[in-house]
Amino acid sequence: MELPANLNMYISAFLFVLGAYLVALYAGLIVWTARDIRSRSRDLLAQIMAILLVAVFNVPGLIIYLLMRPHSKLAEEYERSLVEEAVLHDLEERRTCPECQHHVEPDFIICPYCLHQLKLRCVGCGRLLNPSWEVCPYCGRFRDKAEEETPQRAETFVSLEEPLAEEALAPAEVQPSQGNPNPS
Ligand SMILES: [Zn+2]
Ligand SMILES: [Zn+2]
Repeated sequence: MELPANLNMYISAFLFVLGAYLVALYAGLIVWTARDIRSRSRDLLAQIMAILLVAVFNVPGLIIYLLMRPHSKLAEEYERSLVEEAVLHDLEERRTCPECQHHVEPDFIICPYCLHQLKLRCVGCGRLLNPSWEVCPYCGRFRDKAEEETPQRAETFVSLEEPLAEEALAPAEVQPSQGNPNPS
């Protein structure tokens, strides 16, 4: 009677392989769930609940988890918040003075509250430039030439506030200041 003994061996080997496969599958599901919930939630309780759900109910638990898990991943949310922040920052940068945080119009050259240099006007083409730029990107003039105009503007603006306190300014110097954009 050799056959039954062999058969027993085959059956036990088959059961062993099947058992090992099921254990690996079970562990794999739990590891996958743990990784997935950690990429979607920082809440420790939610992480434990998700892992327990799959550990206790296995495949049906995994289906319930897939239905109930947070919609987006933390990395995606972080990326979205970065984009929103950048847009907001850009808007604020254009609308408030970096020095005194007063509201300024996008085409202001100098902050009317604290006289901070917001933009430069290119003497070559007349367009507004970022003060940190070295060269006008529109007409190719270099910065020192674009800058020539700005100290004068600042002086005439100051002379408007205290025309009598300092030495009397030549009328030709005061008049161009009236051409400055007047915020009202
Ligand atoms: Zn200011
Ligand atoms: Zn230019």
